[in-house]
Amino acid sequence: MTHNAQPAASLFIDGTFVEGEGAALPVLYPYTGQEIASLREATANQVALACQAAARAQPAWAAMAPADRGRILSRAAAIIRDRNEELSRLETLDTGKPIQETLVADWASGAAALEYFGGLAATVTGQMIPLGRDWAYTRREALGVCAGIGAWNYPSQIACWKAAPALAMGNAMVFKPSEETPLGALKLAEILIEAGAPAGIFNVVQGRGEVGAALVTDPRVAKVSLTGSVPTGRRVYAAAAEGMRHVTMELGGKSPLIVFDDASLEDAVGAAILANFYSSGQICSNGTRVFLQQGIAARFLDRLAERLATIRTGDPLDPDTQFGPIINGTQAGKIRAAIAAGQDAGARLVCGGAGEGAFIPPTVFADATDEMAITRDEIFGPVMTTLTFADEAEAVARANATGFGLAAGVFTRDLTRAHRVVAALEAGTCWINAYNLTPVEMPFGGVKMSGLGRENGTAAIEHYSQLKTVYVGMGAVEAPY
Ligand code: NDP
Repeated sequence: MTHNAQPAASLFIDGTFVEGEGAALPVLYPYTGQEIASLREATANQVALACQAAARAQPAWAAMAPADRGRILSRAAAIIRDRNEELSRLETLDTGKPIQETLVADWASGAAALEYFGGLAATVTGQMIPLGRDWAYTRREALGVCAGIGAWNYPSQIACWKAAPALAMGNAMVFKPSEETPLGALKLAEILIEAGAPAGIFNVVQGRGEVGAALVTDPRVAKVSLTGSVPTGRRVYAAAAEGMRHVTMELGGKSPLIVFDDASLEDAVGAAILANFYSSGQICSNGTRVFLQQGIAARFLDRLAERLATIRTGDPLDPDTQFGPIINGTQAGKIRAAIAAGQDAGARLVCGGAGEGAFIPPTVFADATDEMAITRDEIFGPVMTTLTFADEAEAVARANATGFGLAAGVFTRDLTRAHRVVAALEAGTCWINAYNLTPVEMPFGGVKMSGLGRENGTAAIEHYSQLKTVYVGMGAVEAPY
């Protein structure tokens, strides 16, 4: 079956679709490799035009009553929910992720963010600081034009998670999706206009890394929010620093999931599955280092292999499919090389392996050591490394022995231990007896090399605004001379 997902044009600038004038950008359906849309990159000039449109539109948007801005975002959320099925289908074509997942996890989460920040917009207030006769107050103001740059694993969710708080706070945004998944952000741009957002408030430019680099350094850009890998994050952070721009960096990870002997075996296995194989393992916060206490390790691995044997792999548009292809051949090649390196290093393959074509099955390693590349490096595919440990202190020390710090999970029935362990873990987002749940109400982000700033929750408001302090003199000015 051939699919056509061609948008009206490649870019969205100042309220309308505009054709890109840069290099060709074919969009492939990861399941079949078929070209589903043919886009063109933005030129440097078109990136500048998008920033110009955003800068022109932003002051009037920021001057609106926050409740009015919020209503537009809430309307956009309602439109997304109405069209969830059609949008999810497009997301599946763009990413290859099973429709079973995209129907509940992608645009649904994007709509939740628009609704949440839409509702929050009018609640943001300043402080009144009494100083005796005089007083001071603070205003939380927009930053201006924000640049958003997304990864390919959750393209529409990422666009919404960045646009919602940015727009709620009165900023305008120029968004560059990953070159692999350019379609969802264009839909968001159209939907925002339909919901009543003024032209220029949310613009989309397409292209590879150089287009992102041009966007980050545009003089009108006051803030950059990137979701991507650590190496890209380093480059973008450095480029943003030159203009003293604000940044939010949502980067990669190699997160630990610690399972103590007293954990519910079935729940821990279920969480480890969600922490490694949802979206074919292409999730930044995945708990890919699963630390098993010695008393539970064998039972855990047996049950894990048993449950993974039932996974339904196949056509992502089939509602019964649970596990889809890898985004592209290059990424699949990197994952296969990581699996081969794990075997060469002496780790035991419990299940999975190289797979075929676009598909790599859920792969689990046992008998791994902390020094192996499969334990140290982010693979960004369906590969779980399990390790065993004796006691709590050892688990915490080994879990923290990484440069990453995005997320972590703990499974235990011992309440005090659960809280003690998460307090000791160096990670921005932790789960106790759960994994990978990221409701919009909860701040999300990493520490160490996994990034800075937070998305979602009320915390995100601070990352899309700046504080102005106003001192108010109430009487005569007494000057010494
Ligand atoms: P990349 O870092 O390769 O790319 C991220 C985005 O940055 C893409 O849109 C990319 O464009 C763009 N880009 C690349 N170079 C530059 C540059 N010099 N200046 C500006 N923009 C640039 O990540 P992937 O897309 O491969 O995504 C996978 C990575 O993202 C993993 O490490 C994963 O852990 C992380 N990730 C983190 C999440 C989080 O919330 N913490 C969530 C999801 C993923 P293009 O791709 O078009 O070249």
